[in-house]
Amino acid sequence: MADAVDVLIIGGGSAGSVLAARLSERSSRQVLLVEAGGDLVAESLPKAVASAYPGRAYFDPGLIWQGLDVTTGGTGRNDPDTRPTMPYTQARVLGGGSAINGIGANRGAPSDYDEWEAAGAAGWRWDSVLPFFRKLERDLELDGSLHGKTGPIPVRRIPKSQRSAFAADVVAELARRGIAERPDQNGVWEDGVFPLAANLDEDFRRVPTATGYLTPAVRARPNLTIMTRAEGLKLVLAGTRVTGAVIRDVAGERTITADETILACGALHSPVMLMRSGIGPGEHLAERGIKVVVARRGVGHNLMEHPSAGVAAFLRPGARQPWLTPRHHIPAIWRYSSGLAGTPAGDMHVAIVTRGSWHGMGRRMGLLYFWVNKAYGRGEVTLGDDAAGRPKVDFRMLSDERDRLRLMDAMRQAASVLQAVAAGGRIGAPLPARMSDRARRFGAPTFKNALLTGLGGLAVDGSGPFATRLFERLVGDGTRLTDLVADDGALSAYLDEVVTGVWHASGTCRMGRADDIGAVTDSQGRVHGVAGLRVCDASLFPTIPSANINLPTIMVAERIASLIDG
Ligand SMILES: Cc1cc2nc3c(=O)[nH]c(=O)nc-3n(C[C@H](O)[C@H](O)[C@H](O)COP(=O)(O)OP(=O)(O)OC[C@H]3O[C@@H](n4cnc5c(N)ncnc54)[C@H](O)[C@@H]3O)c2cc1C
Repeated sequence: MADAVDVLIIGGGSAGSVLAARLSERSSRQVLLVEAGGDLVAESLPKAVASAYPGRAYFDPGLIWQGLDVTTGGTGRNDPDTRPTMPYTQARVLGGGSAINGIGANRGAPSDYDEWEAAGAAGWRWDSVLPFFRKLERDLELDGSLHGKTGPIPVRRIPKSQRSAFAADVVAELARRGIAERPDQNGVWEDGVFPLAANLDEDFRRVPTATGYLTPAVRARPNLTIMTRAEGLKLVLAGTRVTGAVIRDVAGERTITADETILACGALHSPVMLMRSGIGPGEHLAERGIKVVVARRGVGHNLMEHPSAGVAAFLRPGARQPWLTPRHHIPAIWRYSSGLAGTPAGDMHVAIVTRGSWHGMGRRMGLLYFWVNKAYGRGEVTLGDDAAGRPKVDFRMLSDERDRLRLMDAMRQAASVLQAVAAGGRIGAPLPARMSDRARRFGAPTFKNALLTGLGGLAVDGSGPFATRLFERLVGDGTRLTDLVADDGALSAYLDEVVTGVWHASGTCRMGRADDIGAVTDSQGRVHGVAGLRVCDASLFPTIPSANINLPTIMVAERIASLIDG
């Protein structure tokens, strides 16, 4: 492999794989893609990745970064030093998040992108980005001015026939409350219950960017090289021009030179690469003993997520998903408008989850899992004490009162819906759900966990009228939902403890004008004050879209690639 290329892309995730495919369409351009994780090819896609049920892929330690602990909530505590940390999932594999995520495929509201333009990202308003949302997708069902028919990423909706009785009961209860069913999450932006739009093909198999974009024909291009299990360590600079990067793979370290280097390491790792290389908040870099090359305060700031929590219930046998069929666990979502002053329409998202996890206990758990789809809280990514190690990530969820109030209201609404469904007798009394350490431990897809949770499930089923109580003992933490929703203070404190994200980290190298001190790049992803360097991934988002963010990230990569080609 040549040590000098035209374009070096570091990070082969949702965005990086798209860039590699698009930029190598020009045969005179030598492109090198460097990915820290392993390769994925269509012919031998691991079952967990291909499956329509994604709940094994994102627990697979071979596909994700290890040791990435983050702080989510706790912003209401008096003593900030006691805020707890928890593991956070980020992909480490070609295709990145698109290979391990929950497969949801939606775009957000047109106003999300008009907001980007207003925030200084010129050229990113809805009517400029819609052509790229259409370009990336192959909608298997719908056509018209909002949909694409020929792109690399298939999108389809989970059919009603795949709804479990639990999901059907929840949708029926929402209908009783006057909430209409709508056909298309990616259609006109309105409230309602939608079948989940998912990145699944005709055979209900996931198509990550590693295979949808990096097809055998693309990989065969002589001007494209893909290095997997190779990590970018830091950028190489001559003054304020980036001339390449230091890469480490099994053969050791080497320097690759490039006319242009593009960071596509995701919203947690791209700012880290910048900071390690001397581009970032001056004081922070100095504290870590790093020479400041370009002081840019916004690097690592503006970290965004969708703050979330859930209400669970024990599913009696008739309410469950079929055991062996690999179906998606979220057949439908409920979008609603909180109506809180200053928040836009459709700012809340509720997933109707028909199995809590892949295993025996998870199969017996249904959930309403809700999140603030238009969130205002902002956190930050900084370097760890050892700059070469894992970063410090503090999401500061619920630091904005609007997010806290809406999450509290969502918890009450979810509790009320599940209480009404429970009256029908197919599910037990609802309880607050939290992602405990125990739940995480049992989430790892191992034989031992399958056995233990299978036995736990049988014990619950065999306990007759006490099933719900035993289930509560095994999966709950003793908090009573009815007490919680009746007490503002208790509910707020509880959410502060359990709030988590949905792996939608974004915004840490946001686009904006050069005179905006919080902006890191211009509206083409070029880092302000540095030549030869772009960022292109979820870091670029100025504000968080009201959506799962895989399609928005792919859209960003499609659009940046087209801007590079002029
Ligand atoms: C568990 C999970 C569930 C999710 N569910 C959904 C969902 O259902 N729908 C949805 O739309 N979105 C979902 N998302 C979010 C979405 O998948 C991500 O936001 C999106 O993939 C981000 O794309 P990216 O290109 O910014 O980063 P990534 O896709 O994370 O890509 C970054 C890549 O860079 C590599 N990398 C990092 N540092 C280096 C380095 N130094 N050298 C070399 N390589 C490096 C990483 O290994 C990774 O492959 C989910 C995400 C996760 C993690």
